[in-house]
Amino acid sequence: MMHGHPRTGAATKRKLAILGATGSVGRNTLDVAARHPDAYAIHSLTANTSADELIELCLVHQPVVAVLSGSVDEGAARRRLKEEGCLTELLCGSAALSSAVEGADVVMAAIVGAAGLAPTLSAARAGKQVLLANKEALVMAGPLFMGEARKAGAVLLPIDSEHNAVFQCLPAGRSARADLSEVRRILLTASGGPFRTMRLEALEKVTPDEACAHPNWVMGRKISVDSATMMNKGLEVIEARWLFDVEPSRIEVVIHPESIIHSLVEYIDGSVIAQLGNPDMRVPIAHALAYPRRMASGASFLDLAKVAQLNFAAPDLARFPCLGLAYAALAAGGTAPAILNAANEVAVEAFLRKRIGFTEIGPVIEHVMGRIAAGEATTLEEILEADHVARACAMDRVEHCEERAA
Ligand code: NDP
Ligand code: MG
Repeated sequence: MMHGHPRTGAATKRKLAILGATGSVGRNTLDVAARHPDAYAIHSLTANTSADELIELCLVHQPVVAVLSGSVDEGAARRRLKEEGCLTELLCGSAALSSAVEGADVVMAAIVGAAGLAPTLSAARAGKQVLLANKEALVMAGPLFMGEARKAGAVLLPIDSEHNAVFQCLPAGRSARADLSEVRRILLTASGGPFRTMRLEALEKVTPDEACAHPNWVMGRKISVDSATMMNKGLEVIEARWLFDVEPSRIEVVIHPESIIHSLVEYIDGSVIAQLGNPDMRVPIAHALAYPRRMASGASFLDLAKVAQLNFAAPDLARFPCLGLAYAALAAGGTAPAILNAANEVAVEAFLRKRIGFTEIGPVIEHVMGRIAAGEATTLEEILEADHVARACAMDRVEHCEERAA
């Protein structure tokens, strides 16, 4: 996965672009970077429609460029920046996301969902150091993305806590795409989310707020629902498959409710190496920003005596059908993971808007996967077309569920 090494110890500040700055990962990244003002300059910040929030961030961090990629009142946003005497140049529209990447040394890719694919891919194609939080890019376009990154000499560093952990547990100083013949398995830990032990019948009635109340992590609403269905872990299995170039049969999921061990690598001699820490995204973010060195993240230090116990269990596929669907999409290959991802995004959004129940998320995705045949996923166009078709099919299915419930 590593293609070259970032410059370290340079006197000049590294210019950081944050795609999705107003989100959970975006704000954590700003928190870490602000602790090291001599090392990082905020080059650009982007948001979709959260204009006020983005402007607030511009006033604090003074980036060169800010981008609002969604439809917003452009004039009002510009006036506000001017009134505040902020020199940040504001650009609007999704095409402007590439301007946010230009001129940056390091790009934090933290837009949520399929919308993150195109800008993350262009950062990789521009040969940047890409801090990869947007897992959907690799789920939808794994082989294409990794191929383009390699060609352009981009450095990819995983931000997803599990993948960052695996990266840290792989042989030091070796690229993750190097020979993994000494690695037997990659073990991804999963908290099991808020409904791990809830009675199955009660799952039908859970609300979006309950689904978003993750026991250990504070995250955006989409990934929080994904954690509750365990689709998040399914997406992470696909992400690991491409990021580390390891066959799906060597990627396993283990439930670990405390979220202290962030993932593990098992070697052929029986050694298992784990990465531990308090559940705080600033740890993987600081790791990737400072790589190959280390720097303070602001996270509290782990008190093992206080944690006292770590528990593990095998995942229950009857409770979490989405995990099985993700493995099936990975096995089917081609555009199947993009179809899975698109159907999931539509189903999660419908659940968050109370249009379907929590237990209908999996069946909607399964329906779409059964309806749409996977094709080749060699170009971005093919992948985006599959995404488009799967979304339309999922929306129909959501309507069908609503009619049935009425
Ligand atoms: P949030 O929902 O908190 O933030 C999403 C960010 O993306 C916001 O800045 C949002 O802007 C922007 N955005 C949303 N839709 C679009 C769009 N269509 N076009 C452009 N920008 C858009 O998400 P998270 O920070 O939780 O997650 C970001 C990514 O990181 C996801 O892919 C997630 O899977 C991954 N991740 C997150 C973790 C976490 O702890 N949160 C952990 C591991 C991975 P606006 O505010 O205007 O809507
Ligand atoms: Mg994760």
